[in-house]
Amino acid sequence: MGHANVSVFVPHIGCPNQCSFCNQRSISGQQQAPTPEEVQEICRQAVSLRKGQLDDTQLAFFGGSFTAIRRDYMLSLLQAVQPFLGEGGFAGIRISTRPDAINEEILDILQQYQVTAIELGVQSMNDRVLRLNKRGHTAEDVVKAAALIRQTDIELGVQMMTGLYQSSLQDDRETAEKLAALHPVTVRIYPTITIEGTELAELYRQGLYQPMELAQSVELCAELLLFFEERGIRVIRLGLHDQPSLEQDFVAGPYHPAFRELCEGRIYLKRALQQLKDVKPQVPLDLFVHPKALSKMAGQHRCNLMQLQQRNPVKIRPDDSLPLFCVRIKPQEKR
Ligand code: SF4
Repeated sequence: MGHANVSVFVPHIGCPNQCSFCNQRSISGQQQAPTPEEVQEICRQAVSLRKGQLDDTQLAFFGGSFTAIRRDYMLSLLQAVQPFLGEGGFAGIRISTRPDAINEEILDILQQYQVTAIELGVQSMNDRVLRLNKRGHTAEDVVKAAALIRQTDIELGVQMMTGLYQSSLQDDRETAEKLAALHPVTVRIYPTITIEGTELAELYRQGLYQPMELAQSVELCAELLLFFEERGIRVIRLGLHDQPSLEQDFVAGPYHPAFRELCEGRIYLKRALQQLKDVKPQVPLDLFVHPKALSKMAGQHRCNLMQLQQRNPVKIRPDDSLPLFCVRIKPQEKR
């Protein structure tokens, strides 16, 4: 199954309501709905750039509520991709949609058109939070949609948000637990960012909504990242994409262009500090992590390293026998 996406954004059409936090035009960085001809051109370019090596790649319709858009338009977009699927083309089609826009009939259509993955925009599994953020669906809709998708061969993905209006840390943790119970293959975690043109921006200006601080959001999302990964659920996105239009419309919230790196760095720091408790201060240490995790262990601008150095002189070293997020500490050998 595909591990990369060529994305086509279908912005803010097909939504029966306006969610409190959403200004899809800023999030997707594109205002016009794509035509089937434009989709075909994107496919053609991808095939030519990758010289037909697309068997690890899906064509992804993201950004709106794909199965809630006008039926003839949805079919025209799916039809546009068909010549580019299979031998020398894409491995399949990936879509994102609302939980209440999934039913058996829609799933039949999606399977006919070789849709291989569906990501449900869940955001919260707390009905009060869903209602206050004008999502227009319930947690039960999510459970039903996930069950229907899992009866097919289509891969299930889910998307959740942290720090929504009136959502507590505990609510966010419970959302993660309820989503894990649905056995999705992938998850995306988006810390709520307040952007212009949304109800959330109004609530923020009226002092009725306080966005999460960056440090707190990193702490929570680091915890959720580990929670999902430990259950074999791949976290394929953590934080919003770095879009110029998003930076332009940013009002408040824990936005950082390298949000995932901050979370991963936080996990490594906590694991190292945990082990340091058993070591005398000032003893020089070698700190081993997987080679891919060296910079994450050091932290952004080497902030983790500096914090560790305050207690013990440490050297970060690679060890490819260690799994990701694992840290091993050893006193430095005298040379
Ligand atoms: S359903 Fe998705 S695209 Fe539509 S308003 Fe809500 S968040 Fe935005």
